[in-house]
Amino acid sequence: MKKEPFVTREQIEEIVKTYPTPFHIYDEKGIRANAQALKDAFAWNKGFREYFAVKATPNPFLINILREYGYGCDCSSLTELMLSKAIGMEGEDIMFSSNDTPAEEFAYAAKLGATINLDDITHIEFLEKTIGKLPQTISCRYNPGGMFKITTDIMDNPGDAKYGFTTEQLFEGFRILKEKGVKNFGLHAFLASNTVTNAYYPTLAKTLFELAVQLREKTGVTVAFINLSGGIGIPYRPDQEPNDIKAIGASVKKVYEEVLVPAGMGEVAIYTELGRFMMGPYGHLVTKAIHEKHTHKEYIGVDACAVNLMRPAMYGAYHHITVLGKEQKPCDHVYDVTGSLCENNDKFAIDRELPKIDKGDYLVIHDTGAHGFSMGYNYNGKLRSAELLLKEDGSVQLIRRAETPKDYFATFDCFENYSELGDKMI
Ligand SMILES: *Cc1c(COP(=O)(O)O)cnc(C)c1O
Repeated sequence: MKKEPFVTREQIEEIVKTYPTPFHIYDEKGIRANAQALKDAFAWNKGFREYFAVKATPNPFLINILREYGYGCDCSSLTELMLSKAIGMEGEDIMFSSNDTPAEEFAYAAKLGATINLDDITHIEFLEKTIGKLPQTISCRYNPGGMFKITTDIMDNPGDAKYGFTTEQLFEGFRILKEKGVKNFGLHAFLASNTVTNAYYPTLAKTLFELAVQLREKTGVTVAFINLSGGIGIPYRPDQEPNDIKAIGASVKKVYEEVLVPAGMGEVAIYTELGRFMMGPYGHLVTKAIHEKHTHKEYIGVDACAVNLMRPAMYGAYHHITVLGKEQKPCDHVYDVTGSLCENNDKFAIDRELPKIDKGDYLVIHDTGAHGFSMGYNYNGKLRSAELLLKEDGSVQLIRRAETPKDYFATFDCFENYSELGDKMI
């Protein structure tokens, strides 16, 4: 599918008068249409709820948009819980799907009444010791091990993943939890990441639905909800076909009717914890070409770097690039598009065919709406960028300001000259 930016060169030239590059910009219209599409796709399930994976895009303005569609938050750390609480999420609005969880985080999640999703059988005792009595509702994360395949295609390798209970532990865990007075049970699994196939959710759903039936037979527990978690991907590459959420919802329904309904479990709620799918395509990293360099290769140096978007450096991930205003020009140049870190992996693109880029051109790096800004860091003393929201009416709202040197130095308040650092270049 042809990848087109949701902003034009003219729009960006206007925006940079107020907010200089680099910045992440999000498309409210796209976020809303997609949020509605997911809701519609699972409307057949009475209890359906999406818990947005906060780690993907931890911005309260964006999460508040999703909230209008009835969505909750999926958290995995103290500050994600705090952020969710601060925008009014509480109790069942919050799913706490963490791992290697510190005691204080369990305690805070329990205090908020969040639904706790345990990552390990030993956490039953750990949680009980931490908060006293276990909550009425508990979910457990499942990891069947081995390879996760769809027909013969290997999708991911759960056998190598640190998450979840083994099958044996899950049955044992449910027995223990039941004995300890837990009333409502949930089942969760996340077995493959960034899947660009409509078959992932239905395949996962079948595994979990059959497991839920067995759990009832062997432990007497009927699960109240099944959490299909994240993993629905997006087409980062132009040659990939986007997932069809309507078709995915319909296929999950089919499996539900084949497995759960005949077992008398037609009341089970379906939950999701999507991150990438909810926000990924609706974010751009906008950056300006500030240098060109002709050495052993052709380089374009931009004013963003890997601290603004880590995925290419970290995973060699592909992010499509559009040179604004040159959408119709032939891609007859080959460039490495680099940032300024003193790390040779700080490249947004390697040997990429692009139109001729001139200094001052604005580049849109696509699909940065999830796991983009949020993976940011401060290496080389680089500062995090601003986040902007392109609203439905075409106006732009600052939804997080850019860091300044003062933010970078803030944790040096134990340093005697700290007060002089601030934003001043002394
Ligand atoms: C990261 C994560 C998600 C979201 O995954 P996406 O691939 O972004 O949809 C959901 N649940 C848990 C527990 C996660 O760790």
